[in-house]
Amino acid sequence: MTTKPLISKSKLPNVKTTIFTTVGDLARKHKAIDLSQGFPNFEADSKLLNLVSQAMNEGHNQYAPMAGFYGLREIISEKIESLHNHFYDPEGEITITVGATQAIFTAITTFINKDDEVIVVKPAYDCYEPAIALNGGKAVYVQLNTPDYTIDWVEFKEKITDRTKMVIINTPHNPTGTIFSKWDMQQLEDILKPTNIILLSDEVYEHIIFDGQIHESASRFPDLAQRSFVCASFGKTFHVTGWKMGYCVAPSVLMAEFRKVHQFAVFCVDHPVQRALSIYLKNPSHYLDLNNFYQEKRDFFLNGIRLSKFKYKPTQGTYFQLLDFSQITMEEDEIIGKRLITENKVASIPISSFNVNNRNDHMLRFCFAKNKETLEKAVEILSKLK
Ligand code: PMP
Repeated sequence: MTTKPLISKSKLPNVKTTIFTTVGDLARKHKAIDLSQGFPNFEADSKLLNLVSQAMNEGHNQYAPMAGFYGLREIISEKIESLHNHFYDPEGEITITVGATQAIFTAITTFINKDDEVIVVKPAYDCYEPAIALNGGKAVYVQLNTPDYTIDWVEFKEKITDRTKMVIINTPHNPTGTIFSKWDMQQLEDILKPTNIILLSDEVYEHIIFDGQIHESASRFPDLAQRSFVCASFGKTFHVTGWKMGYCVAPSVLMAEFRKVHQFAVFCVDHPVQRALSIYLKNPSHYLDLNNFYQEKRDFFLNGIRLSKFKYKPTQGTYFQLLDFSQITMEEDEIIGKRLITENKVASIPISSFNVNNRNDHMLRFCFAKNKETLEKAVEILSKLK
């Protein structure tokens, strides 16, 4: 009799630890200034922190309703209506989630079956593809074109087949910092119109957008809105990534299905934090001021490296800036990224790991969601690189 191995093959046997963990560990080991992972190194507004303590002290410490605290869903609905002129019913069209990650995972799990195709725009944030694979689906790639990371909508359209069940977009875009214009969203709307394809629109950087540009949410486009899950993250907007608090909006027919999975995956999310956010969101300046706040940081960072050998285009949105190192070396981005950590003590993310076939664009991604002192130290080092 042959003995069976104790642990059978998992569903993601080839997935490795994410680049963020690997780079973060290396940065800590070499005491490097860490501009790799996307989180702020400054505190959130004390008003928000106090509201959480208040909610706990007031006794909101038991399960919240499955779809989220109603008061929070209501204020989210008002926010979207005032910004994008589209009404989502708090009752059946808004669900509070464990960060945008869980919203994305749940939307994919709810709809993707074996052999369904999902179009993924590359370079892509790393949580989409494993979720597709876990559900037996197949990711079909559309690679953005260098040097500006624009999308070719003709190629995009050609990738759609009878099996395409979902399309995932991300604007403002991590890791490139580009945004989809109104024209881009109209192209997408026209392409999807004759189909029943679901759109998953990852909009976690919705409030970090620069130079007076407008965030073109999928909810602004009627035909897109009626087929979309729009995913958002309070972690990004309020400097509290560790709270893992986000939400997802979709028309009720889609959201009803989503909640069937959500109720068994997590049931509900952190109650006191939801109470606090429902009060904090009543003041729109708490999220509308974020553009200026981060634009100052972007400009400080870029001004600091303007005489360096890096080439760049100012990022349009997100708190990431890509720097092109091709005037310094033509090596693989992973090699120079590693050397920057071990020898120069600044950590960044090589973007080849998010490209199709790990294409080397000679680009590193730097997170500028850091205090002035950290950014000063980083630009001093980056400016001197030969
Ligand atoms: N999407 C993108 C593009 C992101 O950059 C991130 C966070 N790095 C997420 C989703 C996940 O957001 P959250 O932390 O709210 O789960």
